[in-house]
Amino acid sequence: MACGAELNRTRFAPSPTGPLHLGHAFAALTAARLADPGQFLLRIEDIDQSRCRPEYEALIAQDLHWLGLDWPQPVMRQSERLPAYQAALDRLAALGLTYPCRCRRADIRAALSAPQEGAAQAIGPDGPVYPGTCRHRPMADAGPDDAIRLDAARAFRHLGLDEIAFLDENVAPGLPHRLSAQDFIAGIGDVVLARRGMGTSYHLSVVVDDAAQGITLVTRGKDLLDSTWIHVLLQNLLELPTPRYHHHRLIRDDQGKRLAKRDDARALKLFRDEGTSADEIRRRLGF
Ligand code: GLU
Repeated sequence: MACGAELNRTRFAPSPTGPLHLGHAFAALTAARLADPGQFLLRIEDIDQSRCRPEYEALIAQDLHWLGLDWPQPVMRQSERLPAYQAALDRLAALGLTYPCRCRRADIRAALSAPQEGAAQAIGPDGPVYPGTCRHRPMADAGPDDAIRLDAARAFRHLGLDEIAFLDENVAPGLPHRLSAQDFIAGIGDVVLARRGMGTSYHLSVVVDDAAQGITLVTRGKDLLDSTWIHVLLQNLLELPTPRYHHHRLIRDDQGKRLAKRDDARALKLFRDEGTSADEIRRRLGF
């Protein structure tokens, strides 16, 4: 497009692992408010089939309709998208940027607690930075017991980039957020792209799907700000556009504790059953 602002297409992407709470309502209302008419999408993030339940998926639609939201059909469901994730993984593997990893959490903890030359252990968005135990293993060696990791140093060498960047309209708007290759490698490291027995991961799926759905503005909580580096790196490697971002505040309970999905007491359904109106909820959240 030669002129005019880019259309805002946003999405709300819950996992049906529990009832939606006020934090989800805030996220969904934010995505809907920032979308241009008809450009608010729903995506069901159900790759972890052991934790997802159809009844929660039905409840998501009920809760969102109750809040006054609507979205185009059909809804994208990640459990139906495994071939797309596999294709992305194959592409990264063909570039020589992935390796199979058989380490369990306990192996990683043990490797990290072995005496090393000083350095304090970095914690990335997915936990302790992987020490690279399996990095030498070829993809030809990959078996059903392996996860697949991205070799971050190689990925940056492949791209010939010494930093990556994205724009956030809410956190330091107008200023690009930048991270050097060095800081990515030291502070985030070789992330898992496909979890064992799952064929994908949150990071890989979200990148492939945001591109497939033509999302131009990703809205989500600030707790995912650091994960965005992983997504931007993957977008570069897969030659996908980097959308704009809007990482919003998190909704906390009266004690200042972040609302977790398990916090059933705050489920939207309970407010609804108690006779609270959707307008009251919207007002309480500032909409
Ligand atoms: N399924 C993710 C969540 O519920 C979505 C995160 C995102 O919007 O990228 O946290």
